Amino acid sequence: MQDITAGNMKQYFREKALGFEEVWGAITMGIGIKDEFPDEMPLHHQIHLPEGEMIPHASSGSVFVSMSKRGDTERAKEGKRTLNISTHALPEYWFSLHEKYDAAKQEVENFIVNLLEQKLPGFSRNNIEVLHTATPVSWQNWVYRKKGRVGGIPQSMARSLLNWIPHETPFKGLYLVGDTTYPGQGIPGVTLSGINVYSRVIKNH
Ligand SMILES: Cc1cc2nc3c(=O)[nH]c(=O)nc-3n(C[C@H](O)[C@H](O)[C@H](O)COP(=O)(O)OP(=O)(O)OC[C@H]3O[C@@H](n4cnc5c(N)ncnc54)[C@H](O)[C@@H]3O)c2cc1C
Repeated sequence: MQDITAGNMKQYFREKALGFEEVWGAITMGIGIKDEFPDEMPLHHQIHLPEGEMIPHASSGSVFVSMSKRGDTERAKEGKRTLNISTHALPEYWFSLHEKYDAAKQEVENFIVNLLEQKLPGFSRNNIEVLHTATPVSWQNWVYRKKGRVGGIPQSMARSLLNWIPHETPFKGLYLVGDTTYPGQGIPGVTLSGINVYSRVIKNH
């Protein structure tokens, strides 16, 4: 908001932003793979590294894995499955890598594929047919959010939810919605932020 406003408004957003040092981004992977998974297998997983270990170039010790359902031929061809994998990353870090970017992306990709081979029953790199890895740089290209900042502001016990950016601003007619405002990230959170703005607009008119 600082970049697209001026004067008092710019100053307001500059001051608000001081309270928030980090914003989440994501490393995501899409994999198309031959289906050699066990019959009775849940579709959603969170795979944790041993305590204290982190995924390289990420800000997390775990990955989320969502699989297409066997037989869902809209998401994968017959006999294949689609896997969507994600973990948290800090956008500024990825934008600072420059000539080291490609190597870092390859390293994180290899690490996650190795992890899946160890922890996800039926997963083998030999069965992969398509694989793409995305970083905050890719997310900026896809959704135009500055530095690929998707996933909102990190939740913290040190910061009360009540201190998050409110939807109402001191400027007539300017309201805020989305995952960087109260009550934060996630579809339920951003939906509630939209409902809050709707209620406020109705009340103010
Ligand atoms: C990998 C990943 C997994 C997630 N999984 C879950 C989950 O399982 N459950 C859950 O509840 N939440 C999940 N989330 C979080 C959820 O997706 C977000 O919190 C939510 O989408 C944020 O909504 P938003 O409207 O604030 O922003 P967005 O959904 O990012 O919408 C912002 C929109 O503005 C557009 N835009 C940006 N700049 C401009 C511009 N200059 N002009 C015009 N348009 C512009 C963008 O293209 C985009 O469409 C996940 C997020 C990620 C990244």
